[in-house]
Amino acid sequence: MKIAFIGLGNMGGPMAVNLHKAGHEVRAFDLSQPARDKLAADGVAIAADAHAAVQDAEVVISMLPASQHVDSLFLGAGELLAKLPAGTLVIDCSTIAAATSRKVAEAAKARGVAFIDAPVSGGTGGAIAGTLTFMVGGETADLERARPVLEKMGANIFHAGGVGAGQTAKICNNMLLGILMAGTSEAIALGVANGLDPKVLSEIMRRSSGGNWALEKYNPMPGVMETAPASKGYAGGFGTDLMLKDLGLAQENAAAVKAATPLGGLARNLYAAHSLAGHGALDFSSIIKSVQKQG
Ligand code: NAD
Repeated sequence: MKIAFIGLGNMGGPMAVNLHKAGHEVRAFDLSQPARDKLAADGVAIAADAHAAVQDAEVVISMLPASQHVDSLFLGAGELLAKLPAGTLVIDCSTIAAATSRKVAEAAKARGVAFIDAPVSGGTGGAIAGTLTFMVGGETADLERARPVLEKMGANIFHAGGVGAGQTAKICNNMLLGILMAGTSEAIALGVANGLDPKVLSEIMRRSSGGNWALEKYNPMPGVMETAPASKGYAGGFGTDLMLKDLGLAQENAAAVKAATPLGGLARNLYAAHSLAGHGALDFSSIIKSVQKQG
């Protein structure tokens, strides 16, 4: 299948590589030269710009940071939607506001272009291994068209509902993740302040009632888990500012539907303070710094 892939960052890069390895004809583009170079080194064809990437593509996949990037690429200055022939399928994997997904989907529909929102979970490890979870919003027929492509990048595909429903599921999940990571950090820091070995404590909690994804796959304490961003200076992974964006989306949504999300609100403020302290570009598990003795 001819696939255009726009946005080759921590997640989009390995996802595009998996599609290429599966034998799809991938043409990729990112605004960042280092991101383009990395994919070219992996053998993926790089287009000169987004318009060149979508030429003749049957499927267009986007993996961009936030709502404004998706809006701008498809509807605003990027005007990409206007370049797509009727029948093209757009799969947006970015985590963005459900309202933006619906806005792009409506404009797409008017042109005869199909659109699904398909945000993901599983981190950069899942993107590399091709084991992501996709949370899809859109028509069943469009999801079925997308399924063979999604299966090359993920292990679980859920149909959450109509367009935007994937995004709603994703912000519920990430609100929980943000809370879990902050709580896990606090518990480890408390143990370490009492002289416990963080590896031993993490293993005790992982196998006890406090066990969770952070302890399983993404320990926030450097040196506990070799493959986690914490052991790589919190480089790569899932940026604090991206988590802050997702917690903001959850709060906006909660206000709109009058839901009570007290822990989600607190978590948003914790990550906002962490970002203001200069850690916005670090992986979100660096939140442990805010409860550790510094210096
Ligand atoms: P990232 O910042 O590493 O990558 C985003 C890429 O998009 C960058 O390389 C940037 O140059 C590129 N870009 C921005 N605007 C562009 C445009 N108009 N045209 C082409 N390229 C453009 O971000 P990421 O970690 O890969 O995350 C991408 C999305 O996935 C975000 O919405 C994030 O919330 C979500 N997400 C991330 C993770 C994770 O663990 N990193 C996990 C699940 C979901």
